[in-house]
Formats: sequence, C-alpha cells, structure tokens
Amino acid sequence: MMTYIIDNKCIMCGACEEQCPSGAISIGKDQYTIDKNLCISCGACAAVCPVDAPKDEDE
Ligand code: SF4
Ligand code: SF4
Repeated sequence: MMTYIIDNKCIMCGACEEQCPSGAISIGKDQYTIDKNLCISCGACAAVCPVDAPKDEDE
C-alpha cells in the first residue's frame, strides 16, 4: 500500500504529528518519521507542512 514518507527537509516543527488522524507520525532523531503500518495516506501531513517534507512514496 502506498504511504507517505518524510524527507530530510523536515525542520521538526511538529505540525504534522498534531494533524495525523492515525497517530502514524512520531519524532525521530533528526526529523519526524511516519510509521508505514499506520499511515492511511490521507495527505494531512503534506498539507500542513511548511517545508513540503512529507511525500507520496510513489511520486
Ligand atoms: Fe498521517 Fe495522513 Fe500523513 Fe499518513 S498521510 S502520516 S495518515 S497525516
Ligand atoms: Fe517536519 Fe513538516 Fe512535520 Fe514539521 S510538518 S515536523 S517540518 S514533516
């Protein structure tokens, strides 16, 4: 299943974590990360991110 991934442009603002309806986003060492087993590909993280870091994995 297609999921979203967060690339290294992430500035760790935390906005996406608050918006994710499935709790798939968590803080990592250098950036936020998405649990592929939880992501439902809603796009909310991409919509709220100020630096366009979350990407559709198939893009
Ligand atoms: Fe969460 Fe939706 Fe982003 Fe997946 S696409 S990580 S479900 S906000
Ligand atoms: Fe990183 Fe964007 Fe999420 Fe902020 S909204 S934590 S910059 S991926």
